[in-house]
Amino acid sequence: MLFGKKQEITNTETTVYARAKINLTLDVTGKREDGYHTVKMVMQSVALHDEVRVVVTHGEKKPRGIVVRCNLPYLPVDERNLAYRAAELFYESTGILLETCEIHIEKRIPVAAGLAGGSADAAAVLRALASLHAAGLTDEELCAMGLKLGADVPFCLRGGTMLAEGIGEELSALPAMPHCWVVLCKPPFAVSTKEVYQAIDAVDIRQRPDTAGMLKALDKGDFAGVCRRLSNVMELVTAAKRRQIGEIKEFLAENGANGTLMSGSGPTVYGLFSDEGRAKTAAKMLGRRFADTFLTETV
Ligand code: ATP
Repeated sequence: MLFGKKQEITNTETTVYARAKINLTLDVTGKREDGYHTVKMVMQSVALHDEVRVVVTHGEKKPRGIVVRCNLPYLPVDERNLAYRAAELFYESTGILLETCEIHIEKRIPVAAGLAGGSADAAAVLRALASLHAAGLTDEELCAMGLKLGADVPFCLRGGTMLAEGIGEELSALPAMPHCWVVLCKPPFAVSTKEVYQAIDAVDIRQRPDTAGMLKALDKGDFAGVCRRLSNVMELVTAAKRRQIGEIKEFLAENGANGTLMSGSGPTVYGLFSDEGRAKTAAKMLGRRFADTFLTETV
């Protein structure tokens, strides 16, 4: 009896850490004709991350396309998920044949929190697929692809300490910020980045971040100088509506934080600590009141 040659099924996989970011500064400098705000911000990666495992399978009889799985049941796993859209864009832009691409997201970064969790997942998927398919893409090409998914994706692709201008995509690498411990605390409400950006137009911004001073402090490795210059104009919108943001900042400052700020459009507030013990104690105490409290560090 003759059998047709069985097609071989092959799997390749990789796991990428999708790290959260905090803003050391965030200034809104204007608005483009297309409605996007221009910004000037100093961003910093932290160790808190989602784990993104990507498995590419070839040779199945019925290829399954893009399949996203996530430990958080309330996050969409279809094209509304940025990780799904990143994979779709990758295959469309490179022309590589999509058979089955499974994306498993172990979500640890709080959602809609100002920590760029979705953008980090999208960046992780782009990196994973570029490597699994040996696509030979340069960092610039990957960042250009990432920008189509969101203004924070190029930063998430590169990480570290960066100045971001334009709509967030013009990145300049900065000297790494002096290592410190970071207590992140997200009060129990979500914030829509879009709504906060819309609301900022109506605000009279009198005090803007001293970005030049922040860059100098980073140049000198001056941790106290960095902490003195933490500043985010979005606090004018989000903290004005929700008093918990001010309360968490106050708590962190009273419990040994060298500096505190809200990240992105919020509502996550963070404290920077040079002392690990103090950071641990503050995180433990805050964690009793706010479940989404994390002790992490700069990377
Ligand atoms: P940013 O700081 O870039 O504005 P954020 O931290 O405020 O981001 P995200 O956690 O990225 O916000 O989530 C924003 C929205 O995106 C949520 O409403 C969520 O439903 C949707 N989303 C889509 N894909 C993801 C993903 N992989 N992880 C988290 N949220 C996602």
